[in-house]
Amino acid sequence: MKIALTDIGTPKRIRKDLGDLSKLASSIKTKGLINPITVAKLDGKWVLLAGLRRMKAAQSAGLDTIECNIMDFDREIEVDENMHRKDFSRAELRTAVALLWDDEEKKAQERRQLARQREQIGGADSAPPIGREKTRNAVARRIGGISGDTVEKIKAINDSNDPQVQKRADTKSIDSAYKLLKAKQQQKQTPAAASPSKPSTDKADIIVDKTGTQVPAGILEQWRRAEGFAAEVRRMSDLKCLVDDALAEQDPIFVEITNTTVARMIDCYNDLKRVLPYAVCYTCAGHKPQRCTVCKGRGWLSEFLWHSIVPATLRELREARSK
Ligand SMILES: [Zn+2]
Repeated sequence: MKIALTDIGTPKRIRKDLGDLSKLASSIKTKGLINPITVAKLDGKWVLLAGLRRMKAAQSAGLDTIECNIMDFDREIEVDENMHRKDFSRAELRTAVALLWDDEEKKAQERRQLARQREQIGGADSAPPIGREKTRNAVARRIGGISGDTVEKIKAINDSNDPQVQKRADTKSIDSAYKLLKAKQQQKQTPAAASPSKPSTDKADIIVDKTGTQVPAGILEQWRRAEGFAAEVRRMSDLKCLVDDALAEQDPIFVEITNTTVARMIDCYNDLKRVLPYAVCYTCAGHKPQRCTVCKGRGWLSEFLWHSIVPATLRELREARSK
């Protein structure tokens, strides 16, 4: 199926370094596109699941439309049988899960907000229970052909931001990648008893922040300690999911709990995430941060602060420099 290039949006998470596109563009010009890109429809708009390089190259080759494989969420789109039967790659599946999960969470949040408003108007008793399926099951249903359990595993693999785990998911299997992830998490929880803390001049101690900037030795120890807090933050998130699911399933022991609690837990989770280091401070660069009013003496910023106080141009500059 051919779709206009201008109609296809690219989700943020699949953007990456595209390299030189001229060869691919000229091949498309002479031979056409050999391998269609993969798209899906979400909220009435086409989104790219795989093939950003091919898409950009087609654009620069002057094409207006591009041949697409359709991953049919919600079984709404009329495509011919052959397309339905295409086996999607695990990388495409991972993108699909990420997109749909965000979509479902957004919807759930809206529902919660509505419920909260109702509670405020009529008192807690008047709030009707909100029947909804678990996010993972909703996502599985929309993709089709996979279980909620698999969706949950893919979600964990996506969230890990671990290239090794993700590569294994794309090349081997979701289960094998998930096993690797669990093994790695367990290793983290029992912090290297075998190798006691080495001096920070060690080569293995070079740590870069999420923008690719090296974390200076002076703040490394504290950085690591803060990163260790991630496990606690995850517990908060797990607890939120547990309560959320219990409400969704109308578990009788949770009758005194309302959606307000879940909303508060989400707020709390977001607050706690601000303990986690994201980027070395753009003002003091992590050197002598004691007097820095931006990072308040830590030498780094949380993801929230990084995105809320650092001007976009500065952020882009730093991300580009570290590439
Ligand atoms: Zn600072």
